[in-house]
Amino acid sequence: IGGHPKAQSGPIKPSGVSRILAIASGKGGVGKSTVSANLAVALARQGRKVGLLDADIYGPSQPRMMGVTGQPASPDGKTIEPLQAHGVTIMSIGFMVEARKAVVWRGPMLIGALQQMLGQVNWGELDVLIVDLPPGTGDVQLTLCTKTELSGAIVVSTPQDVALLDARKALDMFNTLKTPVLGLIENMSFFTCPDCGGTHHIFGNGGVAAEARELGLPLLGSLPIDLETRLAGDNGTPIAAGEGQMAEAYAKIAAGLVA
Ligand code: ADP
Repeated sequence: IGGHPKAQSGPIKPSGVSRILAIASGKGGVGKSTVSANLAVALARQGRKVGLLDADIYGPSQPRMMGVTGQPASPDGKTIEPLQAHGVTIMSIGFMVEARKAVVWRGPMLIGALQQMLGQVNWGELDVLIVDLPPGTGDVQLTLCTKTELSGAIVVSTPQDVALLDARKALDMFNTLKTPVLGLIENMSFFTCPDCGGTHHIFGNGGVAAEARELGLPLLGSLPIDLETRLAGDNGTPIAAGEGQMAEAYAKIAAGLVA
């Protein structure tokens, strides 16, 4: 899997994968990767066969968040064996670039890498393949929407105006490309102060819910700013792998996704 991948023509269709769900955001840093990892783990805990494809070229976080180390092997030099963690089959674009190197790939290289990760990885039989997209509306999103049988996309945003502004652009892109949007997830909705017990709307209040209402889309969940969520991500064991309110919140969203 070394070298720079080249773009191929033709549709990308991993055999054995029942459905592909893309997790998108307009802005970076809103928790798209955190949500992707936790939904993947929650689905796996519900007995689903789950894959997680980290296509976030600008900041591939899944190796860290899912706690996988090492490189996927390619014994035959053609197909790639994905890694496993927390019951999830994982492939990351981070495995294809040298750590600590900034990615300055042009569009065709990005598309080639995406095609490789979809077509040459031994995903096996999967009920759902979750794709952690880069933020925004670039080549990777375009390729995924037009060249794969995408079952749908979920857009993650914080309630902050600048995040919502960009989330609308992502929603507009899916609309234009006729990719079904399954719903919105509001992340960092509020913070419950452990000292005073009060609820603080640090990034604003209810912006994503209002957007969902306006667009007639489901609000799939509202997740708080949560220290344990952040720590769990940094430690490589997503919060959804444990017990408690956050794990339950993710389980609830996951159950509604693959009913
Ligand atoms: P994105 O994929 O949108 O760039 P990340 O999932 O990488 O965002 O999240 C950005 C940062 O915010 C990470 O450090 C992550 O641990 C943290 N984070 C995400 N969601 C939450 C949350 N609900 N509460 C606390 N920290 C969060």
